[in-house]
Amino acid sequence: MIYHEHFDVIVVGGGHAGTEAALAAARMGMNTLLLTHNMDTLGQMSCNPAIGGIGKGHLVKEIDALGGAMAKAIDKGGIQFRTLNSSKGPAVRATRAQADRALYKAAIQDILQNQENLKIFQQSCDDLIVEQDQVKGVVTQMGLRFSAQTVVLTVGTFLGGQIHIGLENFSGGRAGDPPSIALAKRLRELPFRVDRLKTGTPPRIDARTVDFSVMQEQPGDMPTPVFSFMGKQSDHPQQIPCYITYTNEKTHDVIRDNLHRSPMYAGVIEGIGPRYCPSIEDKVVRFADKEKHQIFVEPEGLTSYELYPNGISTSLPFDIQLDIVRSIKGFENAHICRPGYAIEYDFFDPRDLKQSLETKFINGLFFAGQINGTTGYEEAGAQGLIAGMNAALQVQGKDAWTPRRDQAYTGVLIDDLATLGTKEPYRMFTSRAEYRLLLREDNADLRLTEKGRELGLVDDERWAAFNEKLEVMEQETQRIRSTWIHKDHPALDQVNALIKKPLTREASLEDLIRRPEVAQADLYNIEGLGSESDNWQALEQVEIQTKYAGYIARQQDEIEKLMRHEETQIPADYDYSQVSGLSNEVVAKLSDARPQTIGQASRISGITPAAISLLLVYLKKQG
Ligand code: FAD
Repeated sequence: MIYHEHFDVIVVGGGHAGTEAALAAARMGMNTLLLTHNMDTLGQMSCNPAIGGIGKGHLVKEIDALGGAMAKAIDKGGIQFRTLNSSKGPAVRATRAQADRALYKAAIQDILQNQENLKIFQQSCDDLIVEQDQVKGVVTQMGLRFSAQTVVLTVGTFLGGQIHIGLENFSGGRAGDPPSIALAKRLRELPFRVDRLKTGTPPRIDARTVDFSVMQEQPGDMPTPVFSFMGKQSDHPQQIPCYITYTNEKTHDVIRDNLHRSPMYAGVIEGIGPRYCPSIEDKVVRFADKEKHQIFVEPEGLTSYELYPNGISTSLPFDIQLDIVRSIKGFENAHICRPGYAIEYDFFDPRDLKQSLETKFINGLFFAGQINGTTGYEEAGAQGLIAGMNAALQVQGKDAWTPRRDQAYTGVLIDDLATLGTKEPYRMFTSRAEYRLLLREDNADLRLTEKGRELGLVDDERWAAFNEKLEVMEQETQRIRSTWIHKDHPALDQVNALIKKPLTREASLEDLIRRPEVAQADLYNIEGLGSESDNWQALEQVEIQTKYAGYIARQQDEIEKLMRHEETQIPADYDYSQVSGLSNEVVAKLSDARPQTIGQASRISGITPAAISLLLVYLKKQG
């Protein structure tokens, strides 16, 4: 049967990539269909109940700056918010929130159901309709044919999904969901390069069987950070703490004694797993000298008694999982409510994609999310938004747009994928971006919202708030430049109390904010010096732009210099592990390839300009 309605954009898969893709296309006025296995799992978090973190929080803010859903949903579903790296510079500060799974899912479903131009249909997509290298639509499991000008595939870990618990394995898309077998088979007939990856998840634990009194409590930050540029603290539900405990030698002995029962070590799993989210068995083998590994004990929700023990993802058999869990302080009597498992799935070499995320072989077909070799909700969401938007632009007959590396982490992500490909699940880090002083969480809207408005992604409400912010920033910048503290100023003593040495000549508020020891908030607390505006986002932006102006200019300079270091020599026996800030992945690649010059190093797949920049700093220091 052919469905009576023709769509501009069909998005297959209602995970994190799919929801952002469908919402973006619909916001741009496209007649959009979201086709997914199960409407009840829209917005489901397959693994840990958390959004954000280093590099990832930046992506969430960028999705938000372009009008996406993730930040708004986590503001409504977050039960513990923190700013990571808060003592470091603003470029590497990152927001992270623990989610109540049910509230997060409800918030996403609410946004989807209230989106104009978007229809949702529950059914598995089993086939693509392709005519002369042009996608024409999709076919569902029951043979229903939907026609469309463009199709965005966002089917996550489901393609040929194989779940492993110990040496047992069975087909599945994730626990409780069916795999995509027919679609995987169909895609393997097309000319894409396909490979296998794997990822894993820890056993879930019943909080009623845990002794929290022997663990370290980790409360959220106060005041509570907010994710969306449109969000407010009152959006947040009740806040609750997480806890910290550790593995120990007994845990490690259990693992070492049973490695032969691990599907990874017995050679049953072939796919490569996420280096930065290794299983506990991987950690014990790779870091054999470590006496303990940290576990964040994270609540799954306000009304759930399940706990997510972040740090002990495993695919060992269930009896060993129980021994591992019960060897850990506070978990001695723990009941496991869901076993941990690993999943292997098909992914496509992202080098077969254009920067728009359209495939090179089939016009109108876009891929986004985990099927491009990434891992993580945020990486999936960012790609989904770009793929949905570019599908819409294609329907509108307009040129594709993807942010550049100097505009957004989303640009870094897509450029890394499309030009370098990936051999292991790719996750975002601030170290992947060479322009990271420019790509901060706090300025994601300044980098992207105007473009988002031009593309049709940003609604009137966000646009008005953004313009108001710009106006306040402009006024505030003028005000701090023209407000002077002179020797007779009534606030002189209070100002002097904030700075290292008393003022010897007049200084503007701008001069004072530039001083590292002066926090804008302390200065503004002095009577007569505060701003009239309570737009804290605008005020914070003025502070950051004022304080870090020098660093930002220097970074731009460094990037230009980088271009001139092509022939700089690297000693043959150079120890890359001493370069602090290089990821383990980069250290391994450089140690393996032993490039002779910086130019050669920069052309090794996976060596980012950011890594080269760090290397240059070290070579210069030592040379
Ligand atoms: P998904 O969220 O997987 O969504 C895919 C959607 O497509 C689902 O709604 C599915 O029902 C639908 N679908 C699939 N096939 C079809 C079809 N044929 N027809 C219709 N609908 C279809 N990330 C981390 O960052 N760190 C981790 O440690 C981590 N561990 C993980 C462990 C496990 C066991 C799993 C399953 C995932 C893990 N993840 C982890 C990955 C994280 O869940 C994904 O990165 C993220 O969900 C990817 O989003 P996505 O939108 O690409 O796909």
